[in-house]
Amino acid sequence: MNAPMSYLDGNAAAGELSRIFAVDITSAQGQCANCGCKKPFAEAHLYMQCPGVVARCALCGHVLLRLVHVRQRAFLDLRGMTYLSIETAQ
Ligand SMILES: [Zn+2]
Repeated sequence: MNAPMSYLDGNAAAGELSRIFAVDITSAQGQCANCGCKKPFAEAHLYMQCPGVVARCALCGHVLLRLVHVRQRAFLDLRGMTYLSIETAQ
């Protein structure tokens, strides 16, 4: 039997995602493509014990986001979210 992996909340992704986005993505709202729940990205369960970052839905566990850096490129997979709503007014 495998031990369950521990996770952090989505706020832990702020540093990694700030390398790509000019806005703070952790304050964005996203909709899970699997269960349809709409939650702040900061509430996602973040797994960092893998080659990159994986964020999972706090409700159903579906993968929302994967981010991997390979040499000088970042690979960002957002297929797990129907949308990501970002506040642009500062
Ligand atoms: Zn979900």
